[in-house]
Amino acid sequence: MKTLKDLFLNQLADIYDAEQRIDKALTKLAKSATCTELKAALDFHSQESASQVRKLVAVFQCFDTKPKAQRCEAAVGMLKEAAGIVTSFKRSPAINAALIAAAQKVEHYEIASYGCLHEWAQLLNNQRAVDLLQEILDQEKAVNNQLTQLARNSSNVEALGESCVCGEEEMAEQTQHGQHRKAA
Ligand code: FE
Ligand code: FE
Ligand code: FE
Repeated sequence: MKTLKDLFLNQLADIYDAEQRIDKALTKLAKSATCTELKAALDFHSQESASQVRKLVAVFQCFDTKPKAQRCEAAVGMLKEAAGIVTSFKRSPAINAALIAAAQKVEHYEIASYGCLHEWAQLLNNQRAVDLLQEILDQEKAVNNQLTQLARNSSNVEALGESCVCGEEEMAEQTQHGQHRKAA
């Protein structure tokens, strides 16, 4: 009979594998970013991911088990897609928006995974594990919000590929007349 504790340890082994893959992949994705803020955000989160791997080891210890990684097919697939999108959009104005989209898919997977683990650790009455998982969950949510802000503030607009050659006033006027000039 498999119970919630088995499910918890099974999913912990999954995210323990995913987190190690994500840590490596973020460093690579950061190198492809042409927006310095995005590059810094991805590099910073890569360091956070490394610390999350260590926190996961501690969570295993909370349940008196050795850390065990179980290949996360979702992470493998998402990171493969991320590498593909980077290749397709290299040297294009949409590269940063593409990187943000790929990274946010990963963050949402992590938020869902840690959300469940956190909930289950509460039911399993393991406060130390609850605290560690909450810390990780907060970091995943924070970087996801930061990526949304970066997309809204610059990367999505930049991806339109319409860097305007005119002044702001002139631009407003021309946009009104539907003749927004594009840079050559
Ligand atoms: Fe993570
Ligand atoms: Fe998984
Ligand atoms: Fe993350």
